[in-house]
Amino acid sequence: MTARRYAMAVDTRRCVGCNACVISCKTENALPSGGFRDWIVQEVHGTFPDLTMQIRSERCNHCGDTPCVAACPTGASHVADGGVVLVSKHKCTGCKACMASCPYGARWVHPDGYVDKCTFCLHRVERGQVPACQETCPTRALTFGDLADPASEVSRLVNRRPNLVLQPGAGTRPYVFFLT
Ligand code: SF4
Ligand code: SF4
Repeated sequence: MTARRYAMAVDTRRCVGCNACVISCKTENALPSGGFRDWIVQEVHGTFPDLTMQIRSERCNHCGDTPCVAACPTGASHVADGGVVLVSKHKCTGCKACMASCPYGARWVHPDGYVDKCTFCLHRVERGQVPACQETCPTRALTFGDLADPASEVSRLVNRRPNLVLQPGAGTRPYVFFLT
C-alpha cells in the first residue's frame, strides 16, 4: 500500500474571502487572541480597467522539503503521518529558528512559549473528519485529502485543474495547491 500524502487544494475561483475558515480554525484549535493558523490573502492583478482579484485562504504548506524541520535544534518540528508537519510543544524552546527558515510566515509564537502552526487538523483527520476550515467553508473552496490516492477528490482536482504553489523557487515542495 502506498504511504499517504496529505494535501489541500484551495480553489481561488470559489474563495470569497469570508474568513469563515479562519474563525473555525481559531475555534477548533482554541487559538489565543492574535494567533492564527490560516489567513486570507487578496491580490489584484492587471491594469485598470482589466483587473482581476485572486483571494486565497493560506496556511502552512506541509512541504515535502522542510526547512523548519532541518532548522529545529530540538526535534520539536517534525514530519508526522501523511507528511503533515507538526510541532511537539513540549520539546519546543521557542528559539524561533523554524520561523526564520519558513518562507511562508506560517509559524508564530504561542503565548505559552512554543511555536504554533497549522496541523491540517490531524486530530480530526484521525477521527475520519476533514479539517475544520474545509468543513466550515460555505463555498466548498477547500479540499483536503490523500494525494497518494489517485481516486481522492484532492488528486482529481490537482491533476485536472490548473494550479500553483506558493514560492516554488524556495525549493520546499509545498502540498497546498491553489487552483486557478
Ligand atoms: S471559508 Fe472558504 S470562501 Fe471563506 S475565506 Fe475561507 S476558503 Fe474562502
Ligand atoms: S522554536 Fe521550537 S520548533 Fe522552532 S526551531 Fe526552536 S525548538 Fe524547534
